[in-house]
Amino acid sequence: MVVRAGREFLAIPGPSTIPDEVLRAMHRPPLDIYSDTMAQLTHGLLRDLGTLFATKGQTYIYIANGHGTWEAVLTNVLSRGDTILVLESGRFAVGWGNAARAMGVNVESVKGDWNRAIRPAEVEARLREDTDHKIKAILAVQIDTASGAINDIPAISKAIKAAGHPALFMVDAVASLGCMPFEMDAWGIDVAMSASQKGLMAPPGLGYVAANERARAIHKTADLRTPYWDWTQRDGLENYNKYAGTAPVHLLFAQRQAIDMLFDEKLPNAFLRHSLLAEAVRRAVTVWAEGGVLSFNINEPSERGNTVTTVRMDNPAPLLAYCKNNCGVVLGVGIGDLQDQAFRIAHMGHVNAPMILGTLGVVEMGLQALGIPHGEGGTEAAITLLGQSVEA
Ligand SMILES: *Cc1c(COP(=O)(O)O)cnc(C)c1O
Repeated sequence: MVVRAGREFLAIPGPSTIPDEVLRAMHRPPLDIYSDTMAQLTHGLLRDLGTLFATKGQTYIYIANGHGTWEAVLTNVLSRGDTILVLESGRFAVGWGNAARAMGVNVESVKGDWNRAIRPAEVEARLREDTDHKIKAILAVQIDTASGAINDIPAISKAIKAAGHPALFMVDAVASLGCMPFEMDAWGIDVAMSASQKGLMAPPGLGYVAANERARAIHKTADLRTPYWDWTQRDGLENYNKYAGTAPVHLLFAQRQAIDMLFDEKLPNAFLRHSLLAEAVRRAVTVWAEGGVLSFNINEPSERGNTVTTVRMDNPAPLLAYCKNNCGVVLGVGIGDLQDQAFRIAHMGHVNAPMILGTLGVVEMGLQALGIPHGEGGTEAAITLLGQSVEA
């Protein structure tokens, strides 16, 4: 018996749900890429990305997913033989560092573990040891989509400044931009990157970078630069330069529509929506955890991110299969160190109360149907939280 007619619901942390308005925005013929309309589309998106990153720095659009955009950042500011420092908090900054290593960069790390966020004090101590400033860049992720940790980016930036270290601070906001505050300039970030398919509600395929003056000065002498990613080439005045070739017009139509929707909602409202829906998920997981089988991956409540919740559980495959095959809800699998030991509930981008309560209801249904011990009333706890928080 299944109850899964209709649209399959993706509760995976990327790609996230694409709003119908965004899907429709792509149902048009391509633009003349040499037209004023094209130039204005590019200009508007580059400007609005600056608003999203909260920077006066230069923004860039790449035809790439997050992995490609990582390389875009690395090639533009690093040189062969440079050393960088990766701040671990799960999988994603580590993956970024691995790309750098493959490109000929020495990669050191401040070890983390998968159950907690980066500790700014450990970063400061490590940087104080680097007295001759061998480290050229520091890589961190705002929300680690594998562990579910949120890193305190402003506190890490303060730690870097307190150590008096000149390395570039480079932050991955793929799983957080548009979902929670990000203040590139105010927080002292030199390079930030993100992608289209998570909080930004557009199809996968576009990557975004913002770079400040300090990063652009270092860029001038970076020897890992290659033509496609190169900022200097993209700073050219022709629209063609901005994409190093043909513009991805349909993805740009989609991203334009999605950003318009985000700005119509207003960013502070979108951030509040994410925090409420995330807290609803956490209330449910807290209740389910009373059964002794499920638990939060991130131990400290304040270190749990508002876009994805990673739930520890041995052998989650039957639960995930039940939710998908019987109910049409696709949950995220555990990845990296958490393979077969966790599942993930995404709550990023185009999410609302029915989507989240529906997802929680289906998980609870699965726990019941499969006889997995759990505290009863998790979904009800989520409803109670939202009923108390969302005013009439
Ligand atoms: C998804 C994700 C990436 C990788 O993005 P892809 O588009 O899958 O290459 C990088 N960093 C974070 C934090 C992510 O969540």
